[in-house]
Amino acid sequence: MIPRLQVGILGATGMVGQNYIRLLENHPWFSITYLAASPQSAGRKYAEVIADRWLMSTPVPEPVRNLVVGDANEVSSAQGKCQLLFSAVDLDKKAAEALEVAYAAAGFAVVSNHSAHRMTPDVPMIIPEINPDHLEVIAHQRRARGWDKGCIAVKSNCSIQSYMTPLWAWMQAGYHPRRIVLSTLQAVSGAGYPGVPSLDMVDNIIPFIKGEEEKSELEPLKIFGRLENGVIVPDSELAISAHCNRVPVVDGHTACVSVAFDGRKPELEETIRLWRGFRSVPQQLNLPSAPQEPIVYRDEPNRPQPRKDRDIDQAMAVVVGRLRPCKVFDLRFVGLHHNTVRGAAGGAILTAELMAQRGIIV
Ligand code: NAP
Repeated sequence: MIPRLQVGILGATGMVGQNYIRLLENHPWFSITYLAASPQSAGRKYAEVIADRWLMSTPVPEPVRNLVVGDANEVSSAQGKCQLLFSAVDLDKKAAEALEVAYAAAGFAVVSNHSAHRMTPDVPMIIPEINPDHLEVIAHQRRARGWDKGCIAVKSNCSIQSYMTPLWAWMQAGYHPRRIVLSTLQAVSGAGYPGVPSLDMVDNIIPFIKGEEEKSELEPLKIFGRLENGVIVPDSELAISAHCNRVPVVDGHTACVSVAFDGRKPELEETIRLWRGFRSVPQQLNLPSAPQEPIVYRDEPNRPQPRKDRDIDQAMAVVVGRLRPCKVFDLRFVGLHHNTVRGAAGGAILTAELMAQRGIIV
């Protein structure tokens, strides 16, 4: 039995923040008790602040309408109001880093969508189906930093989610994907709201997303890394080359991926069986936000497609297709996931559920 936890959202007015509010309505373990955003939004009721910029297709949930928005920069505003904080503020790296540390030092468990702490060695970057064991680093984090209840865990960059679990399923079966070349086709919602100007985006593709290629190449190494002496040591054998593109799709990041293996190469049929049969800790624990099938393989030659496939299993599944031989590498495939759900708020909620289940949030 998991005791009900009080939850706050930093950046509650943004694209990711609104998704948290939508996804946490009726959550069996978490209740939203605190919302915060920039100083411009602070001091007014949430329904008032969000009136002309609520982007979700369901109404603003009743329990949060009258919550008075706090200033996310003021840690004291959250004191006594919640135990767990989802952080989705759009701040520069230094400011976000300092703010998340200040919240953790004040006793909050912080689960962040910001990139500030993703490469911090004692901060776990969790995809619950892949590296749930990395949560063990939090005990070291608390000891080294003198925090008792507070801690920081982070969600990875959204774009990598489309191929991480398929790669992991191969690794779990004893294969060694070692060299990867990929191109992403990333939705506009990934840039927040209002995001990319429509005159740049309609009838167009932008072949550059600041910082995204570096994150796509580095973050998987940490997620596939190992825990050693209280820090996470990144995998040193995998090499990734990423091209990241912004495309005129509202939600759903696609990735076209070519993979070369060391040693044995998996067969096509075997891979599809592996992917369809893949289950992990969130499924075994039956966590509230866990997709039943973390990897959905589509046989149709023209899938996955963002509009048709992004919402599968409450938008928490990774949908793959077009697995075929690669003439330069060994195999290639297309992966897709819902970037603001699985890639942001939903993925972070699943991480927090795992942390709650393990007794990390107190
Ligand atoms: P967004 O739509 O631009 O929302 C930004 C949020 O940050 C708003 O709530 C805003 O509050 C708040 N904020 C802005 N300046 C602030 C300040 N000086 N102090 C405190 N709060 C401030 O951005 P988003 O897409 O939700 O992204 C939020 C974070 O999640 C970013 O770090 C982003 O990189 C990351 N992320 C986004 C996605 C995605 O798919 N969109 C995926 C993964 C990670 P006001 O409304 O009051 O200005």
